[in-house]
Amino acid sequence: MDLHSTINQNCSEISNKKLSINTSQTEQTEISHINSEEKKLWRIEDSEKLYRILGWGSPYFSINSAGHITVSPKGDLGGSLDLYELVESIKQRNIGLPLIIRFSDIIEDRIERLNACFSKAIARYKYKNIYRGVFPVKCNQNSQLIKEIVKFGKPHKFGLEAGSKPELLIAIATLKTTDALIICNGYKDREYIETAMLAQRLGKTAIIAIEQIEEVQLVIEASQKLNIKPLVGVRIKLSTKGIGRWAGTTGDRAKFGLNIPEIIQVVNQLKIAGILDSLQLLHFHIGSQISSISVIKDAIREASQIYVELAQLGANMKYLDVGGGLAVDYDGSKTNFYASKNYDMQNYANDIVAEVKEACEEKNILPPILVSESGRSVVSHQSVLVFDVLGVSQVPKAEPPVISKDEHLILQNLYETYQSIKKNNFQEAYHDAIQFKEESISLFNFGYLSISDRAKVEQLYWGCFRKIQEILKDSEYVPDDLEELEKIMASIYYINLSVFQSAPDSWAINQLFPIMPIHRLDEQPTERAILADLTCDSDGKIDQFIDLRDVKSLLELHPLKVSNKSSEYSVSQTLENSHTEIPSVFEPYYLAMFLGGAYQEIMGNLHNLFGDVNVVHIKLTPSGYKIEHVVKGDTMTEVLNYVQYNSDALVESIRCQTEQALQEEKITIKESRMLLQNYERSLSSYTYLSN
Ligand SMILES: *Cc1c(COP(=O)(O)O)cnc(C)c1O
Repeated sequence: MDLHSTINQNCSEISNKKLSINTSQTEQTEISHINSEEKKLWRIEDSEKLYRILGWGSPYFSINSAGHITVSPKGDLGGSLDLYELVESIKQRNIGLPLIIRFSDIIEDRIERLNACFSKAIARYKYKNIYRGVFPVKCNQNSQLIKEIVKFGKPHKFGLEAGSKPELLIAIATLKTTDALIICNGYKDREYIETAMLAQRLGKTAIIAIEQIEEVQLVIEASQKLNIKPLVGVRIKLSTKGIGRWAGTTGDRAKFGLNIPEIIQVVNQLKIAGILDSLQLLHFHIGSQISSISVIKDAIREASQIYVELAQLGANMKYLDVGGGLAVDYDGSKTNFYASKNYDMQNYANDIVAEVKEACEEKNILPPILVSESGRSVVSHQSVLVFDVLGVSQVPKAEPPVISKDEHLILQNLYETYQSIKKNNFQEAYHDAIQFKEESISLFNFGYLSISDRAKVEQLYWGCFRKIQEILKDSEYVPDDLEELEKIMASIYYINLSVFQSAPDSWAINQLFPIMPIHRLDEQPTERAILADLTCDSDGKIDQFIDLRDVKSLLELHPLKVSNKSSEYSVSQTLENSHTEIPSVFEPYYLAMFLGGAYQEIMGNLHNLFGDVNVVHIKLTPSGYKIEHVVKGDTMTEVLNYVQYNSDALVESIRCQTEQALQEEKITIKESRMLLQNYERSLSSYTYLSN
């Protein structure tokens, strides 16, 4: 909740700053002079390097000569558009930020790439079977997206994986591609299993992957009841250890899958029921975002042996399903760091094909149809989340006041510290400043220091830190005890977004996503900042960013520019104008979060009742692009509905209360009309702030 008060405080700060810039002409010219000099020195190549866009963005995202991000949705096949201009033109259509832009061409390109990598590997190793991938619906259940995946996947007979009953319902209704697979995972009851079996009657290849030993009996009973021969798979708990966040997905105590004795039991039960030939698939999943290729290889090797053994036990084995795990390089470092991966898609396909081939050839077993359930790798790139910055809170930059000899001793001490800061004593001065500040707060609390003295203390304290920061900028070595200084001095950029709604993994599991401005990339970003979202929750922030080495805690951003348009918009005017929009004092500054197309949309929650964001589907055309679909984000009425408020009842309650106040002459008729109008207008509008 502490962020809330800072935000309020910040709003007044913005207006003050605006006024002060307007009044002091000389200062303004000075600032623009520095900026133009820095601009010359900073090139877009510097931005490329700083934000690592060539690492994580290739081949879809890059920077153009205007300093804007360019999107090439067809990857290497050509055709591109300017993301900044696209956002501006979407805004012209009255679709506000925050906004998810979905590029269907990227979905197509990812599916093509995945299939091409397996085709190449199959040709290279002369593998005597095919690849037939499935998309795990849980990564992004959005209906437009699933339809596109099915459409683009059709030439490759690309299927779907369901991890729950509702996802199964999506899969059997949406997937109409002949011979494409529906892999049925997750916990299953009788209804789930029967539905999957009956789907065979519609011509679907729905394979029931047994994850819990109890499911075999259900499958056998359903098959007898329906007189349908089921297609069965088994999910194995491999002993190969996963890596990173989802390492627990494997090993003896994993949540899902069968151990070897249980698999033998499944074989026996199916044999007794006379349907051992139903067992056709072996499945494993060692977790998502497997950053190391050697872990993948180990898992394939173990699974291949089990596959071969099952075939030798008399099962009618046809498919080996290697699950998910194909990783995304979020930080572009090409390492086995958790936010990266030390292999590419082709290495992945090659290793799977080569390992399986070797194991099968050794035992003279027909090699299986290879199935992967790659979700993250297929849909992460297709969506870009664009949001704007509402304001910034900065450590005060003003020169600290001069302290005279007759002022309080603590002020004199702090002033002396400030004045004496040099290269050889800054470390000592840093600790002195902290100590004097702490002392002054106790003095204040006991009534020995006035509030105006305390203001001077804070100005001096920040003045000391700023001086020390300047010294540190030029020095190669930063003492350990001063590492916090950069964080203390960081700016806070307030973003028109809820982290809980739009980047839940950033909050829940510290996942890193590339975040950067989409314009002004030909200018040096001189600010160091963390991002604070709209929610009144101190966790509603982003303070971990991708870096070549490890993670950085501050993001380089551009100083906000005061907007010419609204600079005459005076504070008193905005108070009189009673509409809900906040005065846009700054020129729009757009940031984007990339690679968030998997998992984020569905796991987002309604913290503080910030709802789904607007989504726009873009497709390249020969002459540019077209907006294929617009899915408007939640209105306030909709989010209030989720928590069982009826908007009519809410309006009625306000109406009754204003009526009462009118009777008691506490409100004028004009005010009451305004209140009701605002209330009703808010209910039907977007939950985010509009600029
Ligand atoms: C989540 C999941 C996937 C998707 O994994 P990615 O790493 O996103 O490709 C695949 N299979 C199963 C069983 C899963 O639970």
